[in-house]
Amino acid sequence: MLKKTIQTLERCNVHMKWNHLFGSSVRNISSASTTQNDSTTSYSVPREKVDCVVIGAGVVGIAVATALALKGREVIVIESGPSFGTGTSSRNSEVVHAGIYYPRDSFKAIFCVKGREMLYEYCSKHDIPHEQTGKLIVATRSSEIPKLNDILNHGIQNGVDGLKVMNGVDAMKMEPELQCVKAILSPLSGIVDSHSLMLSLVVCISSFFYHGEAENHRTTFTYNSTVIGGHIEGNEICLHISETKSLKEWNETSILQPELLLIPKLVVNSAGLSAPALAKRFTGLENRVIPPAYYARGCYFTLSNTKAPFRRLLYPIPEDGGLGVHVTLDLNGQVKFGPDVEWIDGVDDISSFQNKFDYSVHANRAEKFYPEIRKYYPNLKDGSLEPGYSGIRPKLSGPYQSPVDFVIQGEDIHGIPGLVNLFGIESPGLTSSLAIADFISTKFL
Ligand SMILES: Cc1cc2nc3c(=O)[nH]c(=O)nc-3n(C[C@H](O)[C@H](O)[C@H](O)COP(=O)(O)OP(=O)(O)OC[C@H]3O[C@@H](n4cnc5c(N)ncnc54)[C@H](O)[C@@H]3O)c2cc1C
Repeated sequence: MLKKTIQTLERCNVHMKWNHLFGSSVRNISSASTTQNDSTTSYSVPREKVDCVVIGAGVVGIAVATALALKGREVIVIESGPSFGTGTSSRNSEVVHAGIYYPRDSFKAIFCVKGREMLYEYCSKHDIPHEQTGKLIVATRSSEIPKLNDILNHGIQNGVDGLKVMNGVDAMKMEPELQCVKAILSPLSGIVDSHSLMLSLVVCISSFFYHGEAENHRTTFTYNSTVIGGHIEGNEICLHISETKSLKEWNETSILQPELLLIPKLVVNSAGLSAPALAKRFTGLENRVIPPAYYARGCYFTLSNTKAPFRRLLYPIPEDGGLGVHVTLDLNGQVKFGPDVEWIDGVDDISSFQNKFDYSVHANRAEKFYPEIRKYYPNLKDGSLEPGYSGIRPKLSGPYQSPVDFVIQGEDIHGIPGLVNLFGIESPGLTSSLAIADFISTKFL
């Protein structure tokens, strides 16, 4: 199945190189190259008017491109990395969240519930590996029961069906290695192969077939290309694009020059961890509308040489900044623990566009995992945890601050026609991706 999909992808020439798109564009429009003056900068590079641009080929950017293409729009996805899904979208738990935790009527609650339904439907239709495993949220001591009750109430208010309160004995019968005093069973939670999901969406919009319809949706994925900034020209936003390899020679004192200017009717800034830093580089966009960015790394550890002790996802009571060191399964039944929360400093803008964040997982972090995991899995053996991978949460609130909702900004907020900024698309962003895309293609087209 995967092989077939990759062959389709290659046939459709989705892995376009910079030269393929911009080489021809530059040739076509070189005679029209102009020197453009705005209040701050002058540019003498090729420029082109286009319909829609999505910045970033993570799961959200790809979903947005799909939704725009399905409405008949011509879309260019600009991605700084060599392929899609090289950022946070391939560094997460791959859990399909039910929508329990988030404040009522928040974007997170609404998009998670709707996105989960859309995701399961899409996965079933397109043979994307996924499983509705169910999940237990557990209180491991009686002092945690009030928080567990709050979580249940949130879930009910958010319209999550099927939640069931269980006493500890019954929960431990379902999962014999578990230790808890009370639990909530969430039957709608599950797992998805996020790479297959992204690949499928890319193939769908690139191969003209979606829901069995044969249509030319004209979507182009342009890898190794970075949006380094932009400016407002009259009523339009003008994006500054550079080959990612040109950024490698950049040092902090040299001035970055774009190699191409794109002037889209609609641009969606879906650059994940870099979205706020990129928005700050849009001359003419007021800085006050851009929220501060915080970064919280989450590390995972895997179990070595041990048969998977659990069949369902297991979550303790959430901690500051994350959902607690939980148990996730992959589709092969392998167990991983994590992610923890480690607040880290960001990197400079240009490094962030190239995804040069520190993703290392230090083996000594396991010392903190053992006591956390043993609260609900007391039989965890010494020496059984091995460093896995890490991801970084694109957060809009810092340590000990209240969580902030997804931020989706259009002209009504910042006054610039055709610009949509997506900020703080942390968990449940994977689950919500199709719903966010639907919202954007409905509200901003
Ligand atoms: C540890 C962790 C666990 C998580 N677990 C879950 C979970 O179980 N379930 C769930 O629903 N969600 C989960 N999430 C959240 C989910 O992974 C994200 O919400 C989602 O992947 C965000 O997708 P995105 O497309 O917005 O960002 P990304 O995947 O980061 O994509 C952004 C893309 O933009 C590109 N880019 C950046 N700057 C530029 C530029 N200037 N020009 C061009 N391209 C650029 C990057 O290279 C990147 O490919 C988790 C997140 C983390 C960190």
